[in-house]
Amino acid sequence: MKIYLNGKLVDYKKAHISVFDHGLLYGDGVFEGIRTYDALVFRLKEHIDRLYKSADAIELKIPMTKMKMIEVVLRTLKANRLKNSYIRLVVTRGIGDLGLDPRKCSKPTVFVITHKIDLYPKEFYQKGLQIVTATTKRNFPQALDPRIKSLNYLSNILAKIDAIKSGTEEAIMLTYDDYVAECTGDNIFIVKDCGLVTPPVNIGALEGITRDAVIILSRKMEIPFCERLLKMDDVYNADEVFLTGTAAEIIPVVKIDERRIGSGKPGALTLRLMTEFKSLTKTDGVRYAV
Ligand code: PMP
Repeated sequence: MKIYLNGKLVDYKKAHISVFDHGLLYGDGVFEGIRTYDALVFRLKEHIDRLYKSADAIELKIPMTKMKMIEVVLRTLKANRLKNSYIRLVVTRGIGDLGLDPRKCSKPTVFVITHKIDLYPKEFYQKGLQIVTATTKRNFPQALDPRIKSLNYLSNILAKIDAIKSGTEEAIMLTYDDYVAECTGDNIFIVKDCGLVTPPVNIGALEGITRDAVIILSRKMEIPFCERLLKMDDVYNADEVFLTGTAAEIIPVVKIDERRIGSGKPGALTLRLMTEFKSLTKTDGVRYAV
């Protein structure tokens, strides 16, 4: 397996990062998780835009243009002859000293891993997922805005541990004042009275590329959609709940904190959106030859 690392494609066994890299020492960096479907990189431009936005937000200057970054991603995919894969694109502040000072890091580290994708089992899509509410709160936006896809994922990991401890795979994270924000690695939608609702990202959620695709689909399918604040009661009493994310795509949720959602089965609107989303993954992106 070849890894793109700072301008070169190197074998994964030789793809080493310095222990002085601030991405490792301080989580000082940004990343993207992107997916390819049958030699099409799904919504690549949108992912690259978000990467540069995250970098801007932490005053990290990515040492190449967006166009060049797209080329790098495609080059890595081709080198690994991968048609269906998961791409991890990481830019760190680079090598510095043991202090925090980002000025000591003269050159950002850039690497791209293309690998096989780790998926939820099929039965989760057929029967629906059970999830819980995490005790760990979402980061406060004025401290570390969850809209920045940074290398600081510790609160998400703590919430994921909450999920694992209760025998589930995902957990809903609330804001400090108990509004529903998102899950540890997915955005959340509810269906109520035939309309689609998701929390606004400015309360503390990542502006998911899949979330965005679902919003676009809802317009095309003429499903009423709005962004509004949700409390857990709104989620418990929803007709349908589903999560969205690059790896998960659209996944139905049928139980939260041991409470049954709607009929306890994946809902009709969720299933329709899942079908439409599948079609989108065949067209909405950048094709490459392997
Ligand atoms: N929220 C968080 C915290 C995430 O890490 C992710 C990505 N795994 C998402 C939502 C979903 O975003 P996307 O659809 O862009 O993958």
